[in-house]
Amino acid sequence: MARYNPSQSTYILGGGSNTIFLEDFDGHILINDMRGICHHETEDHHRLSVSGGESWHDFVTKCTDMGWYGLENLALIPGSVGASPIQNIGAYGVEVCEFITEVEYIDLTTGTQHTLPNAECQFGYRDSVFKHSLADTVLITKVHFALPKQWVPVCTYGELRELEKPTARKIYDKVIEIRRSKLPDPSILGNAGSFYKNPVVSHTQFNSLKAKWPVIPGFQVANGVKIPAAWLIDQCGFKGKSKGGVRCHPTQPLVLTNTGKATGSDVISLAQDIIGEVYSKFSVLLEPEVRLVGKEGIISI
Ligand SMILES: Cc1cc2nc3c(=O)[nH]c(=O)nc-3n(C[C@H](O)[C@H](O)[C@H](O)COP(=O)(O)OP(=O)(O)OC[C@H]3O[C@@H](n4cnc5c(N)ncnc54)[C@H](O)[C@@H]3O)c2cc1C
Repeated sequence: MARYNPSQSTYILGGGSNTIFLEDFDGHILINDMRGICHHETEDHHRLSVSGGESWHDFVTKCTDMGWYGLENLALIPGSVGASPIQNIGAYGVEVCEFITEVEYIDLTTGTQHTLPNAECQFGYRDSVFKHSLADTVLITKVHFALPKQWVPVCTYGELRELEKPTARKIYDKVIEIRRSKLPDPSILGNAGSFYKNPVVSHTQFNSLKAKWPVIPGFQVANGVKIPAAWLIDQCGFKGKSKGGVRCHPTQPLVLTNTGKATGSDVISLAQDIIGEVYSKFSVLLEPEVRLVGKEGIISI
């Protein structure tokens, strides 16, 4: 491994599915390609230690095939296992932090190895300590999971509610079917998944929005009410709209796609238009979920 040089930008790359390079990055790229999955069982759990370079979806598939259940709602999320704790990937009512016991990483500034227990990972909605005090200076080498043998299906979201006698396999298949029908495949149409996080507002702000927009959707979360960013963007008329080579996806406005020749400034321009319109209509500030990388490293808009 090249020695880490803090004076030179280093960007750690997993599968690259949550990263948009807006221009050529003038630094080092560290790609995590460490492989390996170890399994052992205790009386109550399947315990898995998975190297950071493993593909997330292949890992979920393996677990489902082997009868190690719990992760099936997270099928088809692109990217690597090593990136999964960083934004605490989640979908269809499940977040990965529910199954992570420990995260192993190398501190690139000192070269020392560490193991962080779940309780110290500061997991939240699309958030963890790896986006804050440990951002960009640690390489996640291994993630440890515990999947309870007493499996409980989670079918609280959307079309999963319609499943009769849900099994983990049925959930896995349904999640894949729904995702394929709604989300563009990044290997065919370039995209980084949800461009923005779903904003969380206070109950007071949500009630005043509800008074003006009675059909506004909202989900109670620990610190307020989560509003689907896709709904806000749709209300501002962006669905299917393009700017330069970037398009707001017609069936999922939370996704911006590269229609062929998108430039970094096209991405920024459409992304800022959306943030501006949503703010002026609803007074809700959208924050990007994707990592935007410029010449010098991560940038914020
Ligand atoms: C079509 C599509 C659908 C998606 N759906 C979802 C969804 O339903 N739910 C969800 O939560 N996300 C979703 N995403 C986002 C994405 O899949 C996740 O964020 C995923 O965890 C990114 O993994 P990656 O390896 O590709 O990360 P990258 O884009 O390579 O990296 C993301 C960040 O993690 C850092 N990083 C990566 N690997 C490591 C490592 N080993 N050590 C330290 N830092 C590292 C990078 O520096 C970067 O800051 C979707 C993306 C796409 C394209």
